[in-house]
Amino acid sequence: MTPFVLIDTHCHLYQIADVEAAVRRAAEQDVRRIVVVSEDAASMRKALDLKGRFDGVMAGLGLHPALVNRMPAAEVEAGLAFIGAHLGEADALGEAGLDFKVLERPEDEAFQRSVLERQFEMARAAKRPVNLHSRRALRETLEEAVRFRRETGLNAQMHWFTQSRKLVRKACDQGIYVSAGPSVLDRPDTQEVVRAIADDLLLLETDSPVPFGEEQSEPAWVRRVAQKVAEVRGTDYETLAGRVAENFERYLGRG
Ligand SMILES: [Zn+2]
Repeated sequence: MTPFVLIDTHCHLYQIADVEAAVRRAAEQDVRRIVVVSEDAASMRKALDLKGRFDGVMAGLGLHPALVNRMPAAEVEAGLAFIGAHLGEADALGEAGLDFKVLERPEDEAFQRSVLERQFEMARAAKRPVNLHSRRALRETLEEAVRFRRETGLNAQMHWFTQSRKLVRKACDQGIYVSAGPSVLDRPDTQEVVRAIADDLLLLETDSPVPFGEEQSEPAWVRRVAQKVAEVRGTDYETLAGRVAENFERYLGRG
């Protein structure tokens, strides 16, 4: 019997204390691939380092939109330069996107957009898909994702994009991938949105170590997420796991 391969498509593994144990527990739950996304130059280095150390760990390089408005300009430039130099060693661009929750000054939104645009250019040059954050900017980030895909032919993933059924339908109409995370475990509103994701655009994630209730999440949780997503979509775990693995290969541009 072929083993199932679940993928945590968005995780901050370097924030977990015992990475080795977390990777082992993940594999025990069929989670054999983990995309480690980054936020700044320091975490980009860590993501690449983890990719080198563990089979099945992949790296995303990106400047997180919630951080760029507060970084000194030189740090933003250094981060962009790092992406430009190393994206070819990584598997995706991200975590990038827009975050309107952190806007403070009138120029903050335009700056986030310009940093995103420059990252898109690097993704295009390196032929890498993008992994996007969209807090309080769901519609705006989706528009960017659609434009990126149209202009480059490369794929975009809306991470944790399970707040609006209408926007999920819009994303899927445009061929944009949508990932569901642990909020599907106990939130009926998320479960409702997860039912609306197209079969061929569904991905799974944890965004770990984001805490849920008393617990800190970790990549192994993708198993629970997969079982719950299968249940709410009226399918079985085996079928769902197979489909999501195919989707991930296609998202990368390899399937
Ligand atoms: Zn994240």
